Amino acid sequence: MQKYLFIDRDGTLIEGPASGGQIDSFDKLKFYPHVICNLSKIAEELDFRLVMVTNQNGLGTPTFTQQMFLPVQNFVIDVFKNEGILFSDIIVDGSYPSENSAMRKPRTGRMKAYMNNAAIDMAHSFVIGDRITDVQFAKNMGCNAIFLDPENMRGAAEITDSIDYLKEHTVALATHNWQDVYEFLKNK
Ligand SMILES: [Mg+2]
Repeated sequence: MQKYLFIDRDGTLIEGPASGGQIDSFDKLKFYPHVICNLSKIAEELDFRLVMVTNQNGLGTPTFTQQMFLPVQNFVIDVFKNEGILFSDIIVDGSYPSENSAMRKPRTGRMKAYMNNAAIDMAHSFVIGDRITDVQFAKNMGCNAIFLDPENMRGAAEITDSIDYLKEHTVALATHNWQDVYEFLKNK
C-alpha cells in the first residue's frame, strides 16, 4: 500500500506572510528553514508520495488573482523539483474561512479520491502543517499529523474536535524543525 505525505504550503514549505495575508509577490517569499535538504532526503530515501494541499484565501478574486499567485507558486514548485522533490498532486482551495466550504481544509471535499482509494495506507500517512486546522484535516482523513508550529492556534475557529483531543490522538510529532521531520519519518 502506498503511504502519502499531505503537505501544507504557507508556514510549512515556505514561511507564512508576516502580515497574515497571502503570498502574492516574490518579496514575501522565503523558504522554511532546512525544508529543501530534508524533503529531498525524504523524497529520495523514503517510501512516501508527496501531495501539496493549501488554502489560499480569496484566490481568484481581484485582490488575489491567479496572476499574483502563479509566478511564486511555479517558482516554489521548480525549486523543489530541481532538488528531486516532486509533488504528485497539488490541491489548492481559494475559498475564505467564512464560506465554510466543504472543499477547504480541514474539510476533505477535495480528498475523496484519496480517502476512497484502498491502495492508500492512510493510517501510516501524515499531514504536515503549521496550523491546528492541518491537524484536524489529518484526523478527518484518517491519518496522523506532524505539527510544525505547535504553539500556534490560528485557525482554531475552524476545528471540530477539541485541541486536547487532537494533540493527544492525532499529533504524531510536534516540532519546528524539518530535520526532526526527516528523522521521525525515517523510522516509519
Ligand atoms: Mg500553513
